[in-house]
Amino acid sequence: MRVFHEDLSEYDYQDEDAFTDRESGVHALWYRPAYTRLNIGWLAAGRPYSTGPVPTAFVEKLKAVQEVQWMNVRLGVHACDLCPADEAPEGNGEVRIPGGPGIAYAAPFLITHYITAHGYRPPQAFMDAVLAVDLDAWASARWPDVPFPWVPDDAERMLE
Ligand SMILES: [Zn+2]
Repeated sequence: MRVFHEDLSEYDYQDEDAFTDRESGVHALWYRPAYTRLNIGWLAAGRPYSTGPVPTAFVEKLKAVQEVQWMNVRLGVHACDLCPADEAPEGNGEVRIPGGPGIAYAAPFLITHYITAHGYRPPQAFMDAVLAVDLDAWASARWPDVPFPWVPDDAERMLE
């Protein structure tokens, strides 16, 4: 699946955001976001992207966020389009990071691979937003809470 979106363009891949409880692997919730989602890091071969060094603390923090947040995992596997096909890593799911008021960044799971293997440098605002995540709170979230602060009270929940 090849998906390219310009950084900071509006995410319109699907209407709803869905979070899965990582501990059980089956509990899930979904809702139509009131926040605006901005694309970050949807790279594809042949499309230019910004490159440059990024702070190690940012990469480590982003990896740590991906350890605790599991979202939009049911949309299918996304393989790196920049690697040779037989070596391309695959990612499943996305990442949501709160930005300024009413803004959440929407990145593919492979974003850390793009940064570490392909020299991608995301917009500064995204790096600042990742560094601002309250990782302790996110890591301690337990169902029916999930590691994302903007889940509305009326989110639909599947309880299996
Ligand atoms: Zn790659």
